[in-house]
Amino acid sequence: MFLMSKIKAEIIKYSKMLNSTKLSALRSGNISVRYKDGFLITPSGKKYSSLKNKDIVFVSSEGRFDKKKGIPSSEWQFHQDVYKNKKEAKAIIHAHSTNATAVSTHKRGIPAFHYMVALAGGHDIKCAKYATFGTRELSKNILKALKGRKACLISNHGQIAFETNLSKAFELAEEVENLSLQYITSLKLGKPKILSVKEMKKVLSKAKNYKRG
Ligand code: 13P
Ligand code: ZN
Repeated sequence: MFLMSKIKAEIIKYSKMLNSTKLSALRSGNISVRYKDGFLITPSGKKYSSLKNKDIVFVSSEGRFDKKKGIPSSEWQFHQDVYKNKKEAKAIIHAHSTNATAVSTHKRGIPAFHYMVALAGGHDIKCAKYATFGTRELSKNILKALKGRKACLISNHGQIAFETNLSKAFELAEEVENLSLQYITSLKLGKPKILSVKEMKKVLSKAKNYKRG
């Protein structure tokens, strides 16, 4: 029980950070952490500023939850599918961050215009095909865009990032947002030069040892 309330408090801390870092306004986006046979997730439609431990909902790996204890995020299905398909995923951030969302409305991902796209795990950051929020179809599209990746954009919606803990997942979402802003800025000057596959392979092997703190 102690561990569960500790995780719930952490989810609330990062939910409030979605607002304070301007990664996601008011109640947009959602956060989850893998817990036992399932995950703990933010409730649907509640402002992050008002969240209390009792609002965070447990959803089992089969998608079961106790409605009396609260309604989980409308996106619990894509959280469920990411945990099911990505064994390394321990925490997920979904945000409607302004620049990632802006790029996503053009139904395009972020190519290797900057070597840091490697942080998402590959040669580019993909954009999942649009589907209505809260549907299994959206979840399928997201899983496709996350093939070999830890983050992707979601068409006409925002972005999602997962990692081995909440702090890393949040940081990755911040990196995706920053890359989105840089990409938009670069497009204003014309067509940016894209790094070659050979160069990105080099970057990806170096990136493995990059982060130290
Ligand atoms: P929830 O409040 O239901 O998590 O919805 C927010 C969201 O971002 C839906 O995509
Ligand atoms: Zn959303």
